[in-house]
Amino acid sequence: MALSQRITTLTGGGSDGWDLFLKARAMIADGIPVTELTIGEHDIRTAAPILQDMHRSAMGGHTGYAMVPGTDALRDQVARRTTERTGVKTTRDNVLITPGGQSALFAAHAAACDPGDVALYIDPYYATYPGTIRGVSAIPRSIQTRAEDAFQPRATDIAAAAEGARSLLINSPNNPTGTVYSRATLEGIAQVCTDNDLWLISDEVYDSQVWEGEHISPRALPHMAERTFVVGSMSKSHAMTGSRCGWLIGPEEAIANLITFATHTTYGVPGFVQDASVFALSQGAPFEAEIGAPFARRRAIAQRVIGAQNTVGLIPAQGAMYLMLDIRATGMSGDDFADALLEAEHIAVMPGESFGAAAAGHLRVAMTIEDQAFEAALTTLCRFAEARAT
Ligand code: PMP
Repeated sequence: MALSQRITTLTGGGSDGWDLFLKARAMIADGIPVTELTIGEHDIRTAAPILQDMHRSAMGGHTGYAMVPGTDALRDQVARRTTERTGVKTTRDNVLITPGGQSALFAAHAAACDPGDVALYIDPYYATYPGTIRGVSAIPRSIQTRAEDAFQPRATDIAAAAEGARSLLINSPNNPTGTVYSRATLEGIAQVCTDNDLWLISDEVYDSQVWEGEHISPRALPHMAERTFVVGSMSKSHAMTGSRCGWLIGPEEAIANLITFATHTTYGVPGFVQDASVFALSQGAPFEAEIGAPFARRRAIAQRVIGAQNTVGLIPAQGAMYLMLDIRATGMSGDDFADALLEAEHIAVMPGESFGAAAAGHLRVAMTIEDQAFEAALTTLCRFAEARAT
């Protein structure tokens, strides 16, 4: 039976760079010890008190269908967090609880784009972005950023690509680059969105992981709340990746329509997961800082290791759990370097190319192993690069 174009062409074809990841996993399955710096997942598990709360809720009977938009308690909690951190008055009517940020990204594009509409996104990008856009039968159009700008997008580049587009997807703090968009960058983006009547879809799942500068939600910029969706998640801020709990914030009318959409797609998020999320969020910013602390520590290690040599460059790494390393001095592509490093040193990192053409000649390193092993792997990576640069 023939399948739809939408489903069979979702990834756009070609290699998506996950070959490296799969090769590393195959080596591990063969008993070869590999240092894995590939995946954006904490090396700690969800904290015991959160799991205890989830258990309490489930044992208390919250195991039936939960309210599709999310429980009142969780929607209120997310609204409160948003109001407190951005200054934009937000109520439960602005909040849809979703099965993770990924589902919120899909819902936002479904709300913004009709089939055949152009949806903009920034390159380098988180792996699912173009497929998410294709998933709603819209057409992904990328906007390249530059290593020399530390991958901050230029408003002029976005404006040049905006003709006929309906939406723009941005992500700060950024995966894969670790860049935190500056106020100037976000003001430029807001202007382009207003000038071209674009929806702005702002992926802020790393909002609690900022090591330099400040996280600014573009929804807080003048006149932006009416055209902005914000994607949030418990995954990164609370080490709850497997719980699949996130949210979408947007204008009331959009959220009302998206509740209907959720009824016909996800039918909501388990009640016990939502209750545990209320508990987790009620721990406040100090708990989120604790979850992010290992990444801040490892970033400092990386700055020291990389500062001691001249071959590998470090994109400032202002936020999130990743480093973007510039290995162009070796003359190798990110793909070739990552493959050679895995073969020779059994260290797995993601080639920049797997996140888009703008990250060619770079590597993404996830700071998701314990400090000593992380420092050792980074030191080996730098020596490996130095040997190839001569
Ligand atoms: N956005 C970005 C930038 C991400 O890195 C991720 C997860 N790696 C997600 C969204 C989706 O995360 P989740 O669905 O677990 O919330």
